[in-house]
Amino acid sequence: TSYYDNYDEAVCLPEIHLSRQPPKEKAKAAFVVLVRNSEQEDIASSIINLEDKFNKNFHYPYVFLNEEPFTDEFKVAMTKASPNAQMTFGLIDKTRHWGYPSWVDQDYAAQCRKDMLANGVMFGEKESYHHMCRFQSGFFFDHPLLANYDWYWRVEPGVKFFCDITYDPFLYMQKYNKLYGFVVTLQEMPATIPTLWKTVLEYAQSRRIDTTMKGRSLFPFFRDQDGHGNEYNYCHFWSNFEIASLNLWRSPAYRDFFNYLDQTGNFFYERWGDAPVHSLGAGLLLETDQIHYFEDIGYQHDLYRHCPSKQSGKGCRCDCPVGTTEKSIDHDNYYDTCLPQWRKWVKTSDARKA
Ligand code: GDP
Ligand code: MN
Repeated sequence: TSYYDNYDEAVCLPEIHLSRQPPKEKAKAAFVVLVRNSEQEDIASSIINLEDKFNKNFHYPYVFLNEEPFTDEFKVAMTKASPNAQMTFGLIDKTRHWGYPSWVDQDYAAQCRKDMLANGVMFGEKESYHHMCRFQSGFFFDHPLLANYDWYWRVEPGVKFFCDITYDPFLYMQKYNKLYGFVVTLQEMPATIPTLWKTVLEYAQSRRIDTTMKGRSLFPFFRDQDGHGNEYNYCHFWSNFEIASLNLWRSPAYRDFFNYLDQTGNFFYERWGDAPVHSLGAGLLLETDQIHYFEDIGYQHDLYRHCPSKQSGKGCRCDCPVGTTEKSIDHDNYYDTCLPQWRKWVKTSDARKA
């Protein structure tokens, strides 16, 4: 088997460099990188690492997005980080996709940011962070530079990949009918989303979407009491890593969901993150089988790290650090991991199907 005929994430193929042999089949896919000029070094390190572990053999293109024009220096640095990959640099439409919508009261938003600072809501005081979360929730997939793609892999500055990836995750998703893939699942900080859950339930009710265990949807995974409760368990898929379908977010159903959330102004009055918004949106639209846990992808963002375990038989030539104090989210009792809930949920939904 070559890297391009491999559809099994548990198969670790020998280290070979296929760069001169073009793949037989490629997905319509790109890396999507929302980033600032000031993050040049950290994003270059992400790319050098990702090229080494995966993309030197697969040659997927990078699409960089920014609400400010990228500098020549930034572009040159990116080209250096991956001399072979195709790269495009896009500007975000500031009036439609980054500014305030007409219905948001900007004075009130400023007051809310002050309150969030006083109340220790992480990043709540940063105006740009709100725009970023809203953009990632509702607009990135409409950027013209992504128009010809069906799939994306989100990459952030300063992340690390620890294992070789000797198959094409996009083709894997396509082949197994997956639409959303994650590596880390965690609990959201409640103070960032005081009214998100309530708004999502209202939305579901208004559109007559069944969010209970009676349905087949992913949604009850996010309910407390193992899917039977009425409260949010705060679990979500961490969105700094995502391999997912662009068309999922482009669907009329997701757009309707996002617009409903956006009308509340709470991307600004609260600090709704794109991670819980994507997760709960996927919850309403997808079935559990359409979500893929990339257990084989060793990954770190900030201090949170996932490394494939020996017992899983997954992960190819991983060089995960050992004996450091960083937070491995795989550890059973790591306080905010949702991985145990996820494993249990997958089991029970398989059982319900059988
Ligand atoms: P965190 O992962 O939640 O700690 O937030 P980050 O600061 O990493 O931001 C998430 C992503 O959005 C990263 O890829 C950042 O580079 C990007 N980002 C955040 N704020 C801005 C911004 O104001 N402008 C641009 N262009 N990118 C941003
Ligand atoms: Mn980040």
